[in-house]
Amino acid sequence: MTIIHTVAGLRAHLEDVRGHSIGFVPTMGALHEGHLSLLRAARAENDVVVLSIFVNPAQFDDPSDLAAYPRTIEHDVELARSVGVDVVFAPDVDEVYPDGFATSVSVRGLVAETLEGARRGAGHFDGVATVVTKLLMAVLPRVAYFGAKDAQQVAVVRRLVVDLGIPVRIAVCPTSRDDDGLARSSRNTRLSPEERDRALSIPRALAAVETAVAAGETDAAALRSRATDILGEGGTAPEYVAFVDPLTFVPAPVLERPVLMAIAARVGAIRLIDNTVLTPGGR
Ligand code: AMP
Repeated sequence: MTIIHTVAGLRAHLEDVRGHSIGFVPTMGALHEGHLSLLRAARAENDVVVLSIFVNPAQFDDPSDLAAYPRTIEHDVELARSVGVDVVFAPDVDEVYPDGFATSVSVRGLVAETLEGARRGAGHFDGVATVVTKLLMAVLPRVAYFGAKDAQQVAVVRRLVVDLGIPVRIAVCPTSRDDDGLARSSRNTRLSPEERDRALSIPRALAAVETAVAAGETDAAALRSRATDILGEGGTAPEYVAFVDPLTFVPAPVLERPVLMAIAARVGAIRLIDNTVLTPGGR
């Protein structure tokens, strides 16, 4: 496994394997089982696996969140080795945003401007879109792997790849969860045991709504109030419980086709997101 810190070094290294299929997994590090599931998928489907580790300042709206973001590079490298990663690309901030950097990739419309886009500020998805574009151009993979956990990020990346004509397939891997149902997240390490317990109301709310939809409920307002009750009783503060089209993020007041249910909630100082796709009538 090779660890590379510069784009020039990465390009030179990948020059030798052009013509082989490259699978790429972009991350912010602090790797956990969720990231490893993406890396295993990339390993199974490609000749060469590239992992990037870059805590992207441009996508953080809150400086204290950026400062507190866990950085565990040595452990990450060990985990990467254990799942057969070929190249770890770990650039510095100056390598990604050199002096004079003045370009931004900005996806417009509901897909980037609602929910996470509205809560975390317009700059959040601009930061995501810009860094993902830069990373895709540096690696030029055949396939890039993203987690369903960040459903809106997936929709934004799909949009920009189509709009900019970037020749890459976007693969989406299912959300990896702990045994108790909590979606794995680098931020979970900052939850106290008691907060973690409260956070479980998030998967509980998703499961309760799935059950209600399976029983025939299709009214988003009714489903939302069921979810917010469970979140409130569990001791989390919901920021939103949304029912939207998974590609466009247009709100779906009635479930007539598969709809993304997305939750953002605060548990103490930690903000968590989770989601599920609801399929009315089991179709
Ligand atoms: P991050 O390091 O948080 O930026 O995440 C890097 C990639 O891993 C993104 O595509 C995430 O959606 C994905 N990811 C994070 N947590 C999970 C999870 N619990 N299950 C599946 N994918 C995940």
